[in-house]
Amino acid sequence: MSATIVHDAIAIGAGPFNLGFAALAGPAGLDVVVLEGRDAPQWHPGMMLAGTHLQVPFLADLVTLADPTHPLSFLAFLKDAGRIYPFYIREDFYALRAEYAKYLAWAAEQLPVRYGHRVTDIRHDGTAYRVTAHTPDGPRTLAARNLVLGTGTEPRMPDAVPGTLRSDPRVVHSSSYLPARERLLAAERIAVVGSGQSAAEVFDDLLAGAGEHRHVEWLTRSPRFFPLEYTKPTLEMTSPDYIDHFTALPQSVRDRLGAEHHGLYKGVNADLLNSIYDRLYAASVDGPSPATLRTATALEGIRESTGRLVLSLRHGEDGGLQEAEVDAVVLATGYGYRQPDFMAGVEERLSRLPDGRWDVDRGYGISRHGDVFVQNAELHTHGFTAPDLGMGAYRNSVLVNRLCGREHYVVERRIAFQEFGTPGSHATFDPAADAAAGTPAQTTPSADLQEALR
Ligand SMILES: Cc1cc2nc3c(=O)[nH]c(=O)nc-3n(C[C@H](O)[C@H](O)[C@H](O)COP(=O)(O)OP(=O)(O)OC[C@H]3O[C@@H](n4cnc5c(N)ncnc54)[C@H](O)[C@@H]3O)c2cc1C
Repeated sequence: MSATIVHDAIAIGAGPFNLGFAALAGPAGLDVVVLEGRDAPQWHPGMMLAGTHLQVPFLADLVTLADPTHPLSFLAFLKDAGRIYPFYIREDFYALRAEYAKYLAWAAEQLPVRYGHRVTDIRHDGTAYRVTAHTPDGPRTLAARNLVLGTGTEPRMPDAVPGTLRSDPRVVHSSSYLPARERLLAAERIAVVGSGQSAAEVFDDLLAGAGEHRHVEWLTRSPRFFPLEYTKPTLEMTSPDYIDHFTALPQSVRDRLGAEHHGLYKGVNADLLNSIYDRLYAASVDGPSPATLRTATALEGIRESTGRLVLSLRHGEDGGLQEAEVDAVVLATGYGYRQPDFMAGVEERLSRLPDGRWDVDRGYGISRHGDVFVQNAELHTHGFTAPDLGMGAYRNSVLVNRLCGREHYVVERRIAFQEFGTPGSHATFDPAADAAAGTPAQTTPSADLQEALR
């Protein structure tokens, strides 16, 4: 069915970042539609472990840091759910992961999100983008002047895992941990590979039930199990100030810093690391530790042998080789961004770096025409703030202002006490000027928006 309405923007993917975009766009008078391939709201269901919490304060919800009065804030959700007093009494800044997922679903219900719309192709007909999505009722095409790509990141398995074992039920990426948990808990020897928060949570969960019949190995390439850096001066780097400095650096310097910044977003919550130690201590009072922990140990290969999996390991410091025989392995080896194939049809409109990565401008744009924007795809250009929920409202304020052609949401220019970079070495991003550079959207809300706002 061909599209008749030209929306101000189509946002692809209904993760937290595009839900935030839609939540902020509506009150600014923008007509946006969010297309989501899944049939219903979901947020990292494979890692919805009981008791886990966000690594950022609840203020890092979809809207509060842009507009503290917005009706789709986390506090408004708690009030609506009748949980605001228990939350108040709980006195914990960090929302439970399960509750945050409920919050996202609650907000999504009130936003123009179309589930069961997996975008497969995009063209530009000279006036607007034509976005085709696969739906249960067949292909649907919608049109918009602007696109916001929020397709998230995909689970990454190390090259050491052969293709033949990638869909083996004994080889599980952490993103699918919970559905595999019962099976894994029945295994005698399990290995967890990785050094981030997910690896620690999975190891801790498996350790909780370890003992008589189970042994858990925790392997990481990193030289140590390092905590997420969480001091306030370091947190000041999650700021427009630091993004200004970082985006002004040569790409080669950004790439080097990107590798050095792992501790800022890839480490483990320090309390969890210590409670794992305490669990090991308690579990070894009456006998040997039910776990083996190896650092600086890279997974070089996995093969089958007499019904078990054999991991080939190389020590990064002494170069030693060893093998570990296990019944199952959990790969908590992270996620990576993959440029969506559906953008091939508009390639000529996109800006790229010489190495093919997107050339994301300071205002999160990737198109020569200023009409395509990205969420959480700018790690290489803007740094570690890209996946940070705490910067979602900031990025979305910049995007909404750009589409409005005015500073509808006040965007902080500077928030830090620190000075990043040599004075004068980079410009301070001016959201008002950036917004004014945008092509203001038509302000006639479509049927979709009127319906969503009803
Ligand atoms: C277990 C876990 C916990 C995390 N906890 C935190 C935390 O506490 N604090 C923090 O700052 N960050 C956290 N992160 C990092 C990050 O904030 C999250 O990954 C966040 O979900 C990223 O949001 P997103 O909107 O970019 O993408 P996603 O949440 O991944 O959403 C992308 C959506 O796009 C959809 N999609 C993809 N392709 C298409 C298509 N072709 N058509 C239509 N839809 C499509 C997908 O189905 C998906 O729903 C966590 C990450 C993980 C894995």
